[in-house]
Amino acid sequence: MKKGIHPIYTDTTVTCACGNVIEVGCNISNLKVEICSSCHPFYTGTHKIIDTEGRLERFKNKYAKAQAAKK
Ligand SMILES: [Zn+2]
Repeated sequence: MKKGIHPIYTDTTVTCACGNVIEVGCNISNLKVEICSSCHPFYTGTHKIIDTEGRLERFKNKYAKAQAAKK
């Protein structure tokens, strides 16, 4: 291996917003993530909506208006 060009690869911990801590090998230390395999709806099977920037709220308003227009 050539010296001085490789990042240092060590064991580190990935901390999720849900509180889950995962031990991985990485060249970045103390990673923080907002979603992981133990809280992502795809893995948990629970229906959880991850609302960003109020998109869900805007859709609900739009939908309610469309429903009201039908009546
Ligand atoms: Zn998580």
